[in-house]
Amino acid sequence: MTDNNNGQEVSRTGAGLDLDGIEARCDKATPAPWVNFDPNAVLGVDAPEGGVVAWTYHRGNTNFIAHARTDVPALVAAVEAVLELHALGIGDLFTAEGIEARLEHCVECTQVEHRFVVRYPCPTVAAIRTALGESE
Ligand SMILES: [Zn+2]
Repeated sequence: MTDNNNGQEVSRTGAGLDLDGIEARCDKATPAPWVNFDPNAVLGVDAPEGGVVAWTYHRGNTNFIAHARTDVPALVAAVEAVLELHALGIGDLFTAEGIEARLEHCVECTQVEHRFVVRYPCPTVAAIRTALGESE
């Protein structure tokens, strides 16, 4: 947990994805970019430092593997950026009756000045969880 600019507690883990694990696996792979070293004749993927990354018998697989080295980190970064924006905030809620409660809310979707609270997970985070096959 960290604090955002409003002094609210904010979770950086977002939807609980193992994005750190994905990043760690990317970091341990041969550096990007991977390329088809002979896309017209050989179904192989090579790294810029030399060495074969993969051999396949299907040209589509070759392109997929070659692009995965840069596509996966880019997708992880995009998901992290959205989850960081739509982070979990925990703050106090005051109702019309003056009852105070702890409320988990989305720090992006909640509009404090307009007293409009969107509970966490907001629709954006819920959509990411659903797309990744996660449940609450
Ligand atoms: Zn949100």
